Amino acid sequence: MDFIMVKTSGFISTNTYIFEKNGMTYVVDPGYGISKYLKDEKVNVLLTHGHYDHISGLPELNVNEVYISEEDSEMLHDPNKNFSFLFGKDFVFRGKVKNIDEYFSTIESPGHTIGSRIIIVDDVIFTGDTVFCNTIGRSDLGGSKELMNETVKNLNKLFSKLDENMLILPGHENICKISDLFRINPFFKRGLV
Ligand SMILES: [Zn+2]
Repeated sequence: MDFIMVKTSGFISTNTYIFEKNGMTYVVDPGYGISKYLKDEKVNVLLTHGHYDHISGLPELNVNEVYISEEDSEMLHDPNKNFSFLFGKDFVFRGKVKNIDEYFSTIESPGHTIGSRIIIVDDVIFTGDTVFCNTIGRSDLGGSKELMNETVKNLNKLFSKLDENMLILPGHENICKISDLFRINPFFKRGLV
């Protein structure tokens, strides 16, 4: 699938992805500054989780629908849960949201946040802050280390069943393939599970 990756949320440098499907523009994890790349066109927004650096671009967009997990949806409405207070902000998004699991191919991946989702669209995998190419996400910002350990175990099994050329599109840092993940990520190296 064709997509573009742009960097948002200033110094935090969040990966925001933009793609077209069935005549609609989709944006994954829009951090603030996204309006540099998208003007007034209507977009659907997919959120891997509810942290500030992945949602702070919502007010800049002409939003049609927003999709997020039920567990993380409350983070959109609470600066203490989306951690915008850490950046001296009081961020809330007041628009309506839909349950992403009902409309998209998702994998429950609690750990980084309780309602984190991995989203699969065609041949790409949006992993949010759960899996990066060379490590996994932290679990001390509203998440759970125990659940993260479970999630990593599950993902090891699941990713090994998928085409190794599928792209891992994480919420920060570099893009890689599933095959790279098994080569360079210590949490995914073959033989460890
Ligand atoms: Zn996060």
